Amino acid sequence: MKDSPSPLTELTLEEANATDQGVRVRACFPGVSDDEWNDWRWQIRNCFKTRQALEAIMSLTPDEQEGIDHCGQKLTMAIPPYFAALIDPDDPACPIRRQCVPTRQELIASDGELVDPCGEDKDSPVKGVVHRYPDRVLFLVSDQCAMYCRHCTRSRILNDGHSHFNSSTYDEAFHYILEHKEVRDVLVSGGDPLLLNDNLLEYLLQRIKSIPHVEFVRIGTRAPVSLPQRITPALLRVLKKYSPLWISIHCNHPQEITPAVREACGALADIGIPLGSQTVLLKGINDDPVTMKTLMHALLKIRVRPYYIYQCDPVVGTRHFRATIQGGLEIMEQLQGFTSGYAVPKFVLDVPGGGGKIPLNPNYIVRREETQYVLRNYAGELFYYLS
Ligand SMILES: *Cc1c(COP(=O)(O)O)cnc(C)c1O
Ligand code: SF4
Repeated sequence: MKDSPSPLTELTLEEANATDQGVRVRACFPGVSDDEWNDWRWQIRNCFKTRQALEAIMSLTPDEQEGIDHCGQKLTMAIPPYFAALIDPDDPACPIRRQCVPTRQELIASDGELVDPCGEDKDSPVKGVVHRYPDRVLFLVSDQCAMYCRHCTRSRILNDGHSHFNSSTYDEAFHYILEHKEVRDVLVSGGDPLLLNDNLLEYLLQRIKSIPHVEFVRIGTRAPVSLPQRITPALLRVLKKYSPLWISIHCNHPQEITPAVREACGALADIGIPLGSQTVLLKGINDDPVTMKTLMHALLKIRVRPYYIYQCDPVVGTRHFRATIQGGLEIMEQLQGFTSGYAVPKFVLDVPGGGGKIPLNPNYIVRREETQYVLRNYAGELFYYLS
């Protein structure tokens, strides 16, 4: 299973919709039209949110039942019908399923786990802004997502019953960025910024772009993957107006890259948006070199340049998802040199406590001697470079 490429990637849209699970999910919504199914708002309204709803399309393990019943205190479950159609109902280890269906394991807090693992709150001068690096800020604009990833780093701000962002927090954020002339790069994130409606998104982009010292704007979103229906012609018209604009998508497994995702990313690329990807290293999901290489290639094929692989942050209840740093380094060694450089992202650790991202690199300098460096190449052969 794991070392075969996604069966969905090469299908047509029609074929992908007609899988057994696709038909099963669709049957939960008698009479739904294609137009409704393809409408992102319909998808959001009809997310699978309860154990009962999910039991109609799969049999849940006891661990999943317990997880669903109790996850609400931490991070609720929401699975758009589109994404639910990708779940393997017979395999609890299905990489799609593990990312969206809660389990008992996420209710366990392990040593070293934190509610705010990257220490963002302490670097937040005003609500919604994280200013950690010299020239750029993270601007959180939404506390909603289409699908709630069970490994989410920012679960503390997602649907905890509070609405975190509104026009007054946006105003404060704009004021902060305006006052800080060193901020030349604004990363719009959340939650998922593309869960905002087109008008609000346009308003935010227009205000960010009107700040004279901001020269680089990017959006971090999972919507092209978890809810590709969100990439509508109307949204594309808005995004195109604010060019140059970069987008980073969040994608963790080749099976997430369906024909619908390929179309969504293609449409974004067609209007001139450079696309990057962020992948979280997840134990049993993508922590092996074959799956990771397949994913990197699948991303390139839909015009997304792999940007980061993240060591999974120690957020409370994610121990079952955390692979080792050593395992991540071995994956990087299996990518570097063995495939296109464009398919080799950076592997980073966002350190607990708030130091930011630290690159984790395999070491290719074997030793430095008095007159030369001893280096190894990707294949392990030694070379010498006079210094
Ligand atoms: C990741 C991150 C950024 C952006 O970092 P890049 O390496 O430039 O992509 C900015 N601010 C914060 C707080 C971040 O976590
Ligand atoms: S899309 Fe991002 S912010 Fe939303 S749940 Fe997933 S990881 Fe968290």
